[in-house]
Amino acid sequence: MTAITSLPSTLAVPGKIPSIDLHMHSKASDGALSPSELMRLCHERGLGRIALTDHDTINGVAEARQAATELGIGLLSAAELSTQWTNTGVHVVAMMPEGEQGIIQDESNPLHRMLNTLWEARSTRAYTIAERLERKGLTNALERARACADGRLAIGRPHFAAALVDAGIVDDINMAFKGYLGTGKIGDVRLHWPSFSEVVRAIVAGGGIAVLAHPLRYSLTRRRLVLLLDDFVAAGGEAVELSNGHQNEDRARDLARLLEERQLYASVGSDFHKPGGPLAPGTFSTLPRCRVAPIWTHPRLASWIDATEASTQKIMAQRQALEASYAAGTLKEGNNA
Ligand code: AMP
Ligand code: MN
Ligand code: MN
Ligand code: MN
Repeated sequence: MTAITSLPSTLAVPGKIPSIDLHMHSKASDGALSPSELMRLCHERGLGRIALTDHDTINGVAEARQAATELGIGLLSAAELSTQWTNTGVHVVAMMPEGEQGIIQDESNPLHRMLNTLWEARSTRAYTIAERLERKGLTNALERARACADGRLAIGRPHFAAALVDAGIVDDINMAFKGYLGTGKIGDVRLHWPSFSEVVRAIVAGGGIAVLAHPLRYSLTRRRLVLLLDDFVAAGGEAVELSNGHQNEDRARDLARLLEERQLYASVGSDFHKPGGPLAPGTFSTLPRCRVAPIWTHPRLASWIDATEASTQKIMAQRQALEASYAAGTLKEGNNA
């Protein structure tokens, strides 16, 4: 049974936040598990509130929702959107507090339209990446990447990385990113992505909450990090991932100060992609002691938090009733024997 621990209302006491993970990937993008397998793993790990944040898509959410409902997990619809900001690829998580249905159904919804734009951008980008990698000796690059994508519709850099490994051009995925696909390398194609501010504005206009993903992972100087945060706030961004996976404690403390000054909410997540990697669901660096408000205190997420609590309690009551009847049955059998 998922142990729903109540979430702290402030980050004044540093520590691990139990039972929540707001950044994870499934097979709908570049994760290894299907959405329902991911939900089961989260359940085993005692996570009660999670967001599925596949790259540029909410295609996995319906399957995840069905599994999450059965398991008593509170699932928040979300996606991690690709953008470009002054020549750097930056990711923004779009949280959908009212669920994804309204956004899917309304073709004029700015977030709906942005997801379509990103989908197209991702496929066009795949051609450009393939062309560039072919020049570096990876013949039939797109076909090879597609084969590595294992039937997925969305092809990403990890699939090109796997293709480079399979073709024997590099020894492992890490080397593929280091030499060909990582920041600034030939296969790091950003030109197809819409601009950072445009994406943030579309999330907000479409009824989402914009969360800046892993700001410490873009190798920005502090000055550029400040500029990014200011552009984010100007476009309507409200929250920032204060903890994403493993990160440096001092830099996280400094980031917390920057969030405090701008009254931004803090989000947390593992950025889980596959089992056996360094980050299991629910694992991320300890948050610094700070006055930043956790995202789960955002007024627009209150009904999601409450609904999760209610459904967990209901499932817990059902489970207890079931256990009680089993216990009664066992007792009866035992007496008869
Ligand atoms: P894309 O969304 O296609 O641009 O691919 C970006 C994804 O590649 C990230 O979300 C990670 O999952 C993965 N990635 C980025 N850098 C690395 C790296 N150095 N090693 C392994 N995977 C990486
Ligand atoms: Mn990824
Ligand atoms: Mn990311
Ligand atoms: Mn991610």
